[in-house]
Amino acid sequence: MPKILIVGGGYAGFYTAWKLENWLRRGEAEVTVVDPLPYMTYQPFLPEVASGSIEPRHAVVSLRRHLKSTKIIAGKVTKITHGEKSATITPNIGEAYELEYDMIVVTAGSVSRTFPIPGVADEAIGLKTIEEAVAIRDRILTNFDKASQLPEGAERDRLLTFVVVGGGFAGIEIFAEMRSFASDLLSKYPELAFEDTHFHLIEAMGRIMPEVSLKTAGWVIKNLAERGAEIHLDTQLKSAVGGVIELSTGESFESDTIVWTAGVMASPMLKNTDLPIEERGRLRVRPDLRVHDENNEIVIDAWGAGDVSAVPDLTGGGVGGFCVPNAQHAVRQGKLLAKNLVAELRGEEVHEYFHKNAGAVAGLGIGVGAFQSGKIGITGILAWFMHRGYHGLAMPSYERKFRVIWGWVLNFFLGRDIVSLEARVTPRAAFEEFASRPRPAAPAAAAPAEAPAGHPGPADAPVVVGGAVSKE
Ligand SMILES: Cc1cc2nc3c(=O)[nH]c(=O)nc-3n(C[C@H](O)[C@H](O)[C@H](O)COP(=O)(O)OP(=O)(O)OC[C@H]3O[C@@H](n4cnc5c(N)ncnc54)[C@H](O)[C@@H]3O)c2cc1C
Repeated sequence: MPKILIVGGGYAGFYTAWKLENWLRRGEAEVTVVDPLPYMTYQPFLPEVASGSIEPRHAVVSLRRHLKSTKIIAGKVTKITHGEKSATITPNIGEAYELEYDMIVVTAGSVSRTFPIPGVADEAIGLKTIEEAVAIRDRILTNFDKASQLPEGAERDRLLTFVVVGGGFAGIEIFAEMRSFASDLLSKYPELAFEDTHFHLIEAMGRIMPEVSLKTAGWVIKNLAERGAEIHLDTQLKSAVGGVIELSTGESFESDTIVWTAGVMASPMLKNTDLPIEERGRLRVRPDLRVHDENNEIVIDAWGAGDVSAVPDLTGGGVGGFCVPNAQHAVRQGKLLAKNLVAELRGEEVHEYFHKNAGAVAGLGIGVGAFQSGKIGITGILAWFMHRGYHGLAMPSYERKFRVIWGWVLNFFLGRDIVSLEARVTPRAAFEEFASRPRPAAPAAAAPAEAPAGHPGPADAPVVVGGAVSKE
């Protein structure tokens, strides 16, 4: 049976495996997905997870629950030698080993792209994983708790100053959701006033959200300004050392929460393969999603899709001629990839990827959204309903759709949960504080002959109780 190895079970990898399960005949191929995470992350929901509008577990899709006949390996692919059709698997536990395959599908996605700005690597947090979104939510809540106990001053300001770097879609969404969350929280913190909270988004370009028109982007900036969230355009972050934000405009302030969303780059894992990579570090892929080399020759049995790949955009709409890294493409490419793999196995014709951008929709906090499709721009509550409607239905599987949508309904009546579980990062602390421990073994007792007859031993001589050494 041919062995298909899928590297990464995110959007593109999950959909490839999911569709292969439907379309492959029994015994036609054996499919394996390797991913260090046991779930696919629905990344467009991360801003709403960070703002407490979606429960973290509802925004991820269990690989084992939904991929029933696919073999799942919890680990990373750390090397691919396609010349020998062999991949090195570094499992989450145990020694690395070689896995042979017949066809490889590379869908390892992207990672946050940073620049060597002092302090960023140490102080900032990205927004690519569910754990990061949860950490941001807990940080906002914990900082509100701490700030409510402090008098006015620099320390309180620092706790209540929130910074986002990058004014793309993800950056604006997290910024707006954080603002919405903080404004909501204020009703539960009578010690704090609206003016005590500060929100800054730093964007190097002269505009935000390149996916929407200038008019729609302008509306978003104005709306956020009215909600007390400032966007610094044409501004660069110069330093974030020790949480002290220094901007290219000369402005400086302190922040305890710096979220970095200024771009992504293809998974660096690619560098450890013999597969062809283009100038921007992405896998070279043809429109039919087969990998090709510099001379446009097909690399047999190697396929790629999603953020990790440079897939030509045949609509002519992509940046530099390639599909932009988004879920809209990753999902559709994953489905086509499954179809093409089946076609290849059966000796049938493969198809090229063609998808005209369906538009963009952003959630900007409860009741606020922005939508753009061609020249049509919609803002406000209607766009917010469109955001929730689209993403609620786009979530893979009815089980997940139901959890997310039901959660929204519950929140509508009950409000969002505002409890920080930040203590989960030290889950044993409470237990350890009061746990009894065996007393340390005392040094071997001194020879009793040294004490004169009739004298007791030294006051702190150990007493042996039931084999254990203790002191009275
Ligand atoms: C905050 C945010 C909001 C977004 N909102 C939208 C939106 O509204 N609309 C939209 O279209 N797009 C949106 N996107 C973009 C979209 O989520 C991505 O383009 C999409 O997830 C890409 O899918 P992928 O399969 O290529 O990568 P991913 O979904 O990132 O999956 C990659 C997988 O590969 C795994 N992996 C990585 N390295 C290895 C390795 N060495 N071995 C094995 N496995 C590995 C990872 O663990 C991961 O599971 C958003 C992204 C973010 C971060």
